[in-house]
Amino acid sequence: MTIRPAASPPENTERLVVRTRTSVLAQLRDRIAGDVLGPGDPGYLEARSGFNRLGCHRPAVIALPDNHFDVVEAVRFAADEDLRIAVQATGHGTGRPADGGLLINTSRLTSVIVDPVTRRVRIGAGATWQMVLDAAVPYGLAPLMGSSSAVGAVGYTLGGGFGWLGRRHGLCADTVRSFDLVTPDGTPIRVTDASFPDVFWALRGGGAGSLGVVTSMEIDLADVSTVYAGNLFYPATDAEEIIRRFRDWAPAQSEQLTSAVAVLNLPPTDDVPEPLRGRSVAVLRGCWCGDVDTGRAVVDEWRRWRRPVVDAWDVMPFAAVDAISMHPTEPTPVMVTTEWFDDLPDAAVDIIARRVRPPAATAPLIVSGEIRHAGGAIARGARYAVNDRARSGRFLLGLVAVVGDPQVALAVESTLRVTRTELAPYVTGAAYLNFTSGTERAGRAADAVSAEHRRRLTEIKNALDPADRFCHGDI
Ligand SMILES: Cc1cc2nc3c(=O)[nH]c(=O)nc-3n(C[C@H](O)[C@H](O)[C@H](O)COP(=O)(O)OP(=O)(O)OC[C@H]3O[C@@H](n4cnc5c(N)ncnc54)[C@H](O)[C@@H]3O)c2cc1C
Repeated sequence: MTIRPAASPPENTERLVVRTRTSVLAQLRDRIAGDVLGPGDPGYLEARSGFNRLGCHRPAVIALPDNHFDVVEAVRFAADEDLRIAVQATGHGTGRPADGGLLINTSRLTSVIVDPVTRRVRIGAGATWQMVLDAAVPYGLAPLMGSSSAVGAVGYTLGGGFGWLGRRHGLCADTVRSFDLVTPDGTPIRVTDASFPDVFWALRGGGAGSLGVVTSMEIDLADVSTVYAGNLFYPATDAEEIIRRFRDWAPAQSEQLTSAVAVLNLPPTDDVPEPLRGRSVAVLRGCWCGDVDTGRAVVDEWRRWRRPVVDAWDVMPFAAVDAISMHPTEPTPVMVTTEWFDDLPDAAVDIIARRVRPPAATAPLIVSGEIRHAGGAIARGARYAVNDRARSGRFLLGLVAVVGDPQVALAVESTLRVTRTELAPYVTGAAYLNFTSGTERAGRAADAVSAEHRRRLTEIKNALDPADRFCHGDI
């Protein structure tokens, strides 16, 4: 005879689950100074949501650490309770959504300390590039940030970090001197090239959210305060011609210029200047970090070739470089995808222009298709860096779609997929992780590194996180 435990009435089971969950939350509350939130608690919805409103996490518990020690305790608590762990700073790069488990929201760890003598800055896990700029600019120094100062500095760097100083100075990951890491078993370590060379190698661009929680990092700053930067706006009908001209022109330029060409569908909102409001445009954009007169002469080649509809390329403080890409700062549901190219044959150019520029009288699904010119210090770093494949191509395409209405999500996803399929004959096959989102980010992580680097990365991951507690990250 089999003896089965008596089945409890459903209401008792529910009460038991609630009691257990409440007592588990209470245990973590006792262990950390910061806040601990469960579903239904005030603040839970806000703490799990970030910039990208697609694919929010639905964790069983959220910890909002006040300090480094809280992170250690939260990770140990997850090990004690056998919970998976996801990490979020600003939510600009939400990858695989985490359901159940513990979400560590680092947004309160915003300390930023500049050392003007060594020209380095130590940056807390929750600090945005704006906070780093605020601290570095008074010393005439600049981080290798990207196109939006609202992005989290640590998350950006763990994925590589391709910004407007990239061709001259490399990816931001190249500038890291040390990470403070709480390993998946809850051990705090300082990771440098001398102390833990393998982990240091893996964290410098190998992917985010997989090897523990980085509570802070120290990076080198560049000696840059004024740049010659901005956009030349042309009609979108010229897009194919402009992309082809850029393809032939950009490789001959100095590394002091990091530039891109983009097809944009601008919104009909008041913050867009009148001649461009609600229109599709083709744009030459970039940032020159050398002598201003030389930079002006370089951009004048385009002005002489064809007069732009709007000329918004000028001298500006580096702190104002958000003006180049004009990204939204309010939370937005976005899907992004990417491809690398060594060449951009006319057929690929035509696909990109046609897919981004909507046919007359139809609403655009893809709001922006930008092709950044890489090479220079970005490609040179491929010799030693973990993300060797994600930085050695010549042109990096980023496609961005805004999913304003959940009902169009499938249409948007399929448009992005079809565009990648059409481009498949021309791409290198490598992926730049920071320009992917959702489950695609995890699905393409292997394409950021060579097979040899993948093997080494997997060994490091398995040694550090044998239980795969950080399963929502890139590795
Ligand atoms: C508007 C916009 C502009 C962008 N511009 C650029 C650009 O110019 N160049 C570029 O390279 N990228 C750019 N990105 C991509 C951006 O760098 C990535 O999305 C990056 O992952 C965002 O990091 P985050 O911490 O802000 O976001 P989050 O979504 O909070 O985190 C992203 C990933 O990093 C992990 N992570 C965050 N903090 C930690 C930590 N402390 N420890 C361990 N893992 C952590 C998370 O688990 C997650 O997997 C842009 C993105 C947007 C939306």
